[in-house]
Parts: sequence; structure tokens; C-alpha cells
Amino acid sequence: MSKTYKTKNIKTRESYTTKRIAQEIGVHQRTVQEWIKQGLTPIENSRPYYFMGYELKKFLEEKQKSRKTKLQPDEFYCTKCREAVRPTDNDAWLVISQRTIGKQGFKAVTIKGICENCNSKINRFSHSGNLKAIRETFNIVDIEEVKQ
Ligand SMILES: [Zn+2]
Repeated sequence: MSKTYKTKNIKTRESYTTKRIAQEIGVHQRTVQEWIKQGLTPIENSRPYYFMGYELKKFLEEKQKSRKTKLQPDEFYCTKCREAVRPTDNDAWLVISQRTIGKQGFKAVTIKGICENCNSKINRFSHSGNLKAIRETFNIVDIEEVKQ
């Protein structure tokens, strides 16, 4: 399921709308909105959102790199440190979605933490089939259930 995004044609000095990003990269606009939650930063105060090409490029390259980094069960990929890191105090927050993934109908789970090296927010994606292991691996500070 790993996808390679074509970042070569992104012009670093140009600004992009959500729609244009979706067209150029070949993804749904909803995917781009998801990227914003994952850390794609729009130009400050832009409404509707505009994104600088270099920001988009950096985000997608990091995303690709994080896929290639093999993580231990207790590690996260930090987009700032650009490497596998551990969460501060081994604390983690879970966001459990009603959205199901895969044939077994597991719920999507996002594990959130704080990078122990740089204090950035770090995320790791998992599913409800791993909940027991996740609880054994991290100190779960909070669990939030969301619709989406
Ligand atoms: Zn970090």
C-alpha cells in the first residue's frame, strides 16, 4: 500500500491551493485536509488555505521517508528529528476513530506522543487490534474517541 508521491514537479516558490495539490499529486482533496492534521502547514492567515511549494515538498518527502524507517513497537518517527524517537516519559495519548480499516473491521488508532529529543508532537498510526500491545508498551495518559 505504499505510495510514491511525485514531488519533482512541485515548484518550491509557488503557492498551491488544496485543489491544485490534489490535482498535481493525484490524491483526493480530503487527503490534503488529512495532511494538514498531520503537519502540512498552510501559509499563515491564508483562507482558503494556500501552501508554499517548498513546504509541500518537504512534507511529502518526510512522509515518504517515515514510511521507509522501520520502527520498533515503542518508537515513533519524528519529522523534525528525521529519525525514530521515543516519547517523553513513555507517555502516549490514543485517538480511536470509528473509521474501520482492513477486513477485520479494526478501528483506526492514532498514538500521539511528544518527542523526547525535540518536544515536537509525534504520531504513529495503528489499529484497535493492537490495543493490548499498545497499552503494554506505553503509559496511556488519555483516550479520545472520535467519529472520523
Ligand atoms: Zn524530535
